[in-house]
Amino acid sequence: MPALTPTIRLAVVGAHGRMGATIVQLAEADERFTVSARVVAPNEPLDLLDATLIADLDPATVDVLIDFTHRDAVALHGEWCGRHGIGWVLGTTGLTDADQQAVGQAGLATAVFHASNFSLGVALLADLSARAAKVLGTAADVEIVETHHGRKKDAPSGTALTLAQAVAGARGQVLDDVRRDGRSGMVGERPVGEIGIHAVRLSDVVGEHDVQFGWPDERLLLRHEAKDRRVFAAGALRAAVWLQEVRAAGRKGRFGMADLLAT
Ligand code: NAD
Repeated sequence: MPALTPTIRLAVVGAHGRMGATIVQLAEADERFTVSARVVAPNEPLDLLDATLIADLDPATVDVLIDFTHRDAVALHGEWCGRHGIGWVLGTTGLTDADQQAVGQAGLATAVFHASNFSLGVALLADLSARAAKVLGTAADVEIVETHHGRKKDAPSGTALTLAQAVAGARGQVLDDVRRDGRSGMVGERPVGEIGIHAVRLSDVVGEHDVQFGWPDERLLLRHEAKDRRVFAAGALRAAVWLQEVRAAGRKGRFGMADLLAT
């Protein structure tokens, strides 16, 4: 009889949140996983869903921590995963430079998978946007429009920034030098090479991203629409499986969607 593959033991942080709850639901229906802990914020009730705090979490019961919470918690979660050698799948967006450094630090100590968007379609959108930007150069204006539900806390979305970075990188630009978030008032003529980013907040939209290229007499629109947040949850679980293989091979580091798609 073939040896049974051990299930991957997950701790889901933000387990009461929109993403956390969806991840718990999908993982519980998938025999590859065991949800060993539902971790909540210190200000949340502990009596629901057998919830626990990260301070009380036993690392011996966890292979991978899945984290879709708030940027305030990034440094703490990264330190915990690094100290205990636990894999960290991080989907939280709105990270500051200091948070990014904390993610990098964790990647020196353990295996970290960070993505601002876990959908396969968005990974392809980034890839196609970079290809178009490389061919068109700064002769084409680029505007990125993201639409999300009104409860989203950060703007523009992490995905819009990832897409803008893909375009800027392909054109040999530094994003912060050419990025323009929204326009209002006497903004003057559009500078050559600018990348406009716009955030729309609308009802219950799960997530839409348009990358628009415009040059004389032509316009190219690349669009991705996520119809259900299960897209991201399924992607995070796929990343957890990938990260567990990385851990099994004794590797550490910071990984993302491009690494997953390349294997
Ligand atoms: P949400 O507000 O519904 O849930 C966030 C949860 O995190 C809440 O339950 C909150 O109590 C909890 N939380 C906050 N601080 C915490 C802490 N210090 N410790 C433990 N838990 C804490 O939000 P959401 O829609 O589930 O999104 C969560 C994050 O994931 C956001 O940053 C969002 O932008 C991001 N997101 C990423 C992707 C992706 O593919 N990478 C997709 C969707 C959402």
